[in-house]
Amino acid sequence: MGLGSLFKRNKNKNKKEEEIADSHIDINTEECGGCEKCSIACPNNVLIIVDDVSMVRDPQVCKSCKVCMAICPNDCITVN
Ligand code: SF4
Ligand code: SF4
Repeated sequence: MGLGSLFKRNKNKNKKEEEIADSHIDINTEECGGCEKCSIACPNNVLIIVDDVSMVRDPQVCKSCKVCMAICPNDCITVN
């Protein structure tokens, strides 16, 4: 009458979604005023405004056109 040990290994999937560290787009969030100009101007929809700060939604679709850099009134975007 063996009790099957029903151990369920709850491996916590604390897998933090690793932000792509390799992003070639750098946003100075301290200077960003959340004006949305960059996200509107980006032809590839790379940028998104979250809590009044511009964030990189998907660096892989960025074509490095640097329109966002040019349009930002606070000079807070650098595209390498
Ligand atoms: S460089 Fe061009 S494609 Fe890349 S985030 Fe800026 S505007 Fe978008
Ligand atoms: S254009 Fe500049 S200040 Fe405006 S949301 Fe984009 S990064 Fe921020």
